[in-house]
Amino acid sequence: MIEYMLSQLNLLENNGDMAADNKSPLLDEKDKEIACEVKKFMDQMPGGFFIYRADGNEEIIYANEALLRIFMCDTMREFRQLTGNSFRGLVHPEDLEEVEKSIRKQIAESRFDLDYVEYRIIRKDGAIRWLEDYGHFVKSKSGDIFYVFVGDSTEKRERLLAERNAIIFESQAKEQEMQAVMEQYDKELKVIRQEHLRRLEVIEGLSINYDSIFYVDLDADKIVPYRISYRVGNLFHKNFEEREYSRCRKSYADAWVYHEDYPMFIQAMSPEYIRERLAEEPTFYINYRVNDKEEMLYLQMRIANAGDMSHISQIVIGFQRVDKEIQYEIEKKKVVEDALNRARAANLSRSTFLSNMSHDMRTPLNAILGFTALAKKNQDNKSALLSYMNRIEASGQQLLSLINDVLELSWMETDHIQILQEVCSIPELLEKLYGEMVSEAMEKNIAISLETAGIRDASVYCDENKLRQVLRYIVGNAIKYTGHGGSVCVAVTQSETQPNDYGVYQFKVSDTGIGISEEFQKHIFDPFEREKNTTLSGVHGVGLGLTIAKNIVEMMGGTITLHSVPGEGSQFTVTLKLRMQKGVSALSVQEEANPDGMQNRRILLVEDNEINREIETDLLESLGIIVETAENGRIAVKKMEDAPAGYYALVLMDIQMPVMDGYQATEAIRALEDPGRAQVPIVALSANAFEEDVRRAYESGMNAHVAKPFDLDYLSEAILKYIP
Ligand code: ADP
Repeated sequence: MIEYMLSQLNLLENNGDMAADNKSPLLDEKDKEIACEVKKFMDQMPGGFFIYRADGNEEIIYANEALLRIFMCDTMREFRQLTGNSFRGLVHPEDLEEVEKSIRKQIAESRFDLDYVEYRIIRKDGAIRWLEDYGHFVKSKSGDIFYVFVGDSTEKRERLLAERNAIIFESQAKEQEMQAVMEQYDKELKVIRQEHLRRLEVIEGLSINYDSIFYVDLDADKIVPYRISYRVGNLFHKNFEEREYSRCRKSYADAWVYHEDYPMFIQAMSPEYIRERLAEEPTFYINYRVNDKEEMLYLQMRIANAGDMSHISQIVIGFQRVDKEIQYEIEKKKVVEDALNRARAANLSRSTFLSNMSHDMRTPLNAILGFTALAKKNQDNKSALLSYMNRIEASGQQLLSLINDVLELSWMETDHIQILQEVCSIPELLEKLYGEMVSEAMEKNIAISLETAGIRDASVYCDENKLRQVLRYIVGNAIKYTGHGGSVCVAVTQSETQPNDYGVYQFKVSDTGIGISEEFQKHIFDPFEREKNTTLSGVHGVGLGLTIAKNIVEMMGGTITLHSVPGEGSQFTVTLKLRMQKGVSALSVQEEANPDGMQNRRILLVEDNEINREIETDLLESLGIIVETAENGRIAVKKMEDAPAGYYALVLMDIQMPVMDGYQATEAIRALEDPGRAQVPIVALSANAFEEDVRRAYESGMNAHVAKPFDLDYLSEAILKYIP
């Protein structure tokens, strides 16, 4: 009703005719008075107020003065012009649709048909302002209307906006600050992570040898693995998996630790023991053994304190294999022990050697002196004299071979021996050997046989003298250590041909003698070693023969082995790789020397020692040789120059002489102009019998070398070989 009155009042105020024209029933005086009062009240309301129709046009029925002020309109007319006198014209066109939708929604939902919206308006001066709108929907007989209270909320909004912006700004600043803090944190975290990684790498590097590593808290009885080996794989499935320490310790020991080391291992891993040891030093270890796939492995467990020294609880345990180290230690210990044993044995051998030597030297010396005295006494008894002489000779030989052995060995130890490569016929070599050994064998009624059927290539390059020396030692032993009536066999076989015309030759010396115990076989090639000494066995010897033989064989690049059964006999095998002289048959043995070839041939004997000169002259003359002598090299050269060519059939040259030695004299003779003189055969006859002396003799131009004291047969053989 009130809206009707207000509309009528407005009409009256603005256009008195319109009411009459429209024929609208005008208000009576009383209603008009009431309406004026109401209008006055509403006009004077401090806030904006208006009423509009809730129909399609949304016509504004009333607007109070405060609303006009909001729109900066001085009159209602201006306001109507500005808004088109409708709610639609009042709201900013951009907000209208949203506002109407919101109002409809709120009214539908509100119990009291109230709504609240905010929207923009365009003021008369064009300024855009924000309004707060509290609306109330009312149904009336004259149609549905909205009562609306509005206020200009522009300042409030701006203030709120400013406040919000300030808050946003502040929060943005805070966010930036946070961001900076986070970035710094990230940076530091990265550095920490890198450092952590580096430390892990360092730890990994240092602990590379450890198969498994654990962290243990003794107080808490906890164990955490950091690296797991297959031996603890059944206790832990992955790293960092926490377990009970005491239980793991027992399970591991039960499963792996070798029973002899078990108690020690359990004790070493007990918290009490660990605390005790770590109180003294920051780390300690124990070595123990485990049974791993039927193999015994050596492991080392190292325990280090990882926590506070004042209360030991946090520790690190690492396990690693130490087979190599232990092996090395065992070997080192063995080397020291062996060296000690060898030193002891050498000491013992030396004392035995000295006592043997003194015995073995005295025996022949006594014999020589004794028989010489007897010979003197029995000068008239020719047969007794011969027998004494023979014995003196045998003892002298024995003494000589003893001295030779000792000298040879000492020479060998200084590495002065040279191995020659001369053409040599193996059957011939064996024949010579046979000749040298047969009388010794016959004395004991020992049958000595040679087997050469296994040789295809008889002529080889080797150091014949040395090889014969080796075989002499072995065959000599076979005879020495075989009883009367036994047998000795020397068999040579040629097993395989190798590249460059090399053949493998085996020299087997077998006997039916006393044999050699298994224990002694291990030392048989060591110097001065004898199974029984001379006093016990009654067999002379100093324990050097086989040492020398083995040294020579090895210098020739060969091997020497032994098979023996005590009581049954022994077999020594010398295996050598020799270069064959192709095209020479096994049967081509050198022609027999003709002993008559020496008769009435003239030899120049160059010898400075008067006694030697006499003995040698007598012996040579006993062979039918005509002997002329020279006391030194110079005289010899002179005699050669003065004599017609071919006058001397051969020269026997001593080496060590005053004025001019044998080498120089030979060189001077070889340098003579007349080839008939210069090419005279020269054979060294010298006590300088070492390998080097022999080599020098050849180098100076001599044809052969015979060592003093000489064997007459051997010397005559050499002479016959070279006499033209
Ligand atoms: P020697 O014969 O001077 O004692 P060796 O070095 O030639 O020195 O031999 C060393 C030891 O080896 C001999 O003392 C002997 O005990 C043993 N022996 C060597 N050959 C034989 C063998 N054929 N039969 C038995 N024992 C042997």
